[in-house]
Amino acid sequence: MRRAKVPNRRTRFLALLSDARRVKREGFSSLLKKQQSRLESIVSFARTHSPYYRQLYRDLPARIVSPAQLPVTNKPKLMAHFDDWATDPAVTLEQAKRFADNPDLIGTRFLGRYSFATTSGTTGRRGIFLMDDPTLAVRNALLWRAVSDWLNLTDGLQLLGRGLRTAVILATGGHFAGLSGATRNGKGSPWRERAVRVFSVSTPLPELVRGLNAFRPAILVGYATILRLLASEQEGDRLRLEPLLVLPVAEGLTSDEYERLARVFGCKVRTLYAATECLHVAYSCEHGWLHLNSDWLVLEPVDDTYQPVPPGETSHTVLVSNLANYLQPILRYDLGDSVVVRPELCECGNPLPAIRVQGRSADLLRFADTQGQPLALPPLVLSSLADRTPGVELFQLVQTSPTALRLRVMPEAGADPLRVKQTLERELQQLFAAHRLAHVSIEQAEEFPEPSPGGKYRMVIPLPRGG
Ligand SMILES: [Zn+2]
Repeated sequence: MRRAKVPNRRTRFLALLSDARRVKREGFSSLLKKQQSRLESIVSFARTHSPYYRQLYRDLPARIVSPAQLPVTNKPKLMAHFDDWATDPAVTLEQAKRFADNPDLIGTRFLGRYSFATTSGTTGRRGIFLMDDPTLAVRNALLWRAVSDWLNLTDGLQLLGRGLRTAVILATGGHFAGLSGATRNGKGSPWRERAVRVFSVSTPLPELVRGLNAFRPAILVGYATILRLLASEQEGDRLRLEPLLVLPVAEGLTSDEYERLARVFGCKVRTLYAATECLHVAYSCEHGWLHLNSDWLVLEPVDDTYQPVPPGETSHTVLVSNLANYLQPILRYDLGDSVVVRPELCECGNPLPAIRVQGRSADLLRFADTQGQPLALPPLVLSSLADRTPGVELFQLVQTSPTALRLRVMPEAGADPLRVKQTLERELQQLFAAHRLAHVSIEQAEEFPEPSPGGKYRMVIPLPRGG
């Protein structure tokens, strides 16, 4: 079958970066204009090339000027219409599942041309997301817009002088986009191979410290929990890094912990707000606000009936429209995060709208580590682990005591339930050991994952606070 033709999509990184920087310089009205025209263009493309959206939008007016005109989508809906959702008819769920479950294919491209990522998010239900090169080019341009905001000229020159060396500490071995897209990048240009090195989150700490000392990264990216351990190694003078920037990914860091990282590593600490469905949501500023990349996405904070929530108030969830991904259009998609939009312009002067992500602490598993230090495990660490365990349809961890978890698993149709459960348990044990949580016990549950009263599945059910 012929591949869909995508209109006016630039893939040149420098052109995208210069556009992104110009839009930000010109301010809010320029931003809205870009957002509006990109929304119109992707909606019209989706209606023409995605049978799912053609059907879903069949009664809508020909011209869409506001995302509020569109019905809401979510992961279960899109996964249920996977083949019809994609704008490339060659994409099928059957092939995607086979690809996801074959570890030999990690780091290769789906159908020879698409980046491939799976995610369980905070719901524990697996989603499969594809990106083409123009989508990744937008993500990269927005990442470098953020980096150029974070670093001053001196930092920037140092960064270049150090070959942009970036260490990314991730749960490797799975198909997931993460921050770096590193699974693919590692097999890209030789330059990238030198500049970006991926370390596995399950590497024993002394080995990780040795590897990082040898690599001497200028930018250090990793899960907040691992960066905390590394900060202790740096304090103990075993780790000797001089990074220009530390980027904790995944949630779960308090402002005290940000300050500690900044103090111990002697550099700026910033973060990104990303989801597999949209890798370029927002980036933080020095005042701790997250600035939305509104030229390439629409983010609508809404209440539980999908009505808009005004700035300053905590939303129930957010609806995201990713304006870059024409392959699998993500339009008015319920991301499940609760946010607050800053009512006035941020004091840092960035004209991009500023938000704070709230309420995710409900999804944090809290333990005391083997040295008695409190440790919160963010959902992303757990979901990425389930993503690389073949055959998991849905899973749920219920904390039954400060040191015990109950594991509920729903295997995919056709998978061997016992094997899936055992593999997942082994992966969890390894992960806990790497986080100094080897004393946390895992008990296999007979029952399947259970929905909360609202009908949604949560991947983790922590002990009630104070309990
Ligand atoms: Zn700001």
